[in-house]
Amino acid sequence: MKIFIDGKWLDKDQAKVSVFDHGLLYGDGIFEGIRAYNGRVFKLREHLDRLFQSAKGILLEIPYTLEELEKIILNGVKNNGLKDAYIRLVVTRGFGDLGLDMRKCKKASVIVIVDKIALFPESVYEQGLKVITSSLRRTPHQCLSPNVKSLNYLNNIMAKNEAARAGAQEAILLNMEGYVAECSGDNIFYLKEGKVITPPLWAGILPGVTRAVAIEILKGKFRVPVREDLFTTFDLYTAEEVFVTGTGAEIIAVVEIDGRKIASGKPGKLTRQLQEAYRELTQTTGVAVYENELSALVQ
Ligand code: PMP
Repeated sequence: MKIFIDGKWLDKDQAKVSVFDHGLLYGDGIFEGIRAYNGRVFKLREHLDRLFQSAKGILLEIPYTLEELEKIILNGVKNNGLKDAYIRLVVTRGFGDLGLDMRKCKKASVIVIVDKIALFPESVYEQGLKVITSSLRRTPHQCLSPNVKSLNYLNNIMAKNEAARAGAQEAILLNMEGYVAECSGDNIFYLKEGKVITPPLWAGILPGVTRAVAIEILKGKFRVPVREDLFTTFDLYTAEEVFVTGTGAEIIAVVEIDGRKIASGKPGKLTRQLQEAYRELTQTTGVAVYENELSALVQ
């Protein structure tokens, strides 16, 4: 396995960052989780656009252009000889001193890890997820914007662990006003009376790439109305279907929330159809890895 760090492709045991990197010391940095399917990187431009927006949000200058990063990622998948892959792109504030001052960090560090994807067990897709509402709230806009995909994931990690301790697989985080925001690593949707509803970006969520794809399939291919609106856990408890979306998860049904079965307690029809349509898209669209002439510049 070859890992990209600041212009070099290194073996796994050689791929190391400094203990003075502010990504490690303070969680000062951003990241993306991207997937390749069948030799194509899915929604690469969308992930890179989000990375650059996250960077802008935290005043981080990425030392590569979007096009250069695109080539580095495609080369990474190619160098690792993979067709299906999980790509972790990390940009840290870089090497600094022990203080908080970001101006002491002269250059951001860029890391690209290309690995095999660790999938959710197939049973989760068949049977659906059991989730709980976390006691932790999603970081509000008044703090670091939840629109930034930052290296500060401790809030989400604690929520996910709270779910595990309660015998569930995911946790719903409410926003500070008590409305549903999202799960620890996925966006959330529900179906009721022919309409699909998901929280708006300003509710305090990550603008999920999969969320946007799901909305596009629902509105376009399925002609199902989608509304972005605030809602409560009661709306989820009484929904006909609930599902989550994310790069790792893709589309997964939620069949139990806080001990209440959702409808029949089995994945719903619309969720299954969406899963299928999403899988088809991942298999047939994306930036081809093996047909590209890649510049020597970023090899
Ligand atoms: N919300 C959070 C908090 C996330 O970390 C993620 C990504 N794992 C998502 C939603 C889903 O985003 P995407 O569809 O872009 O993977």
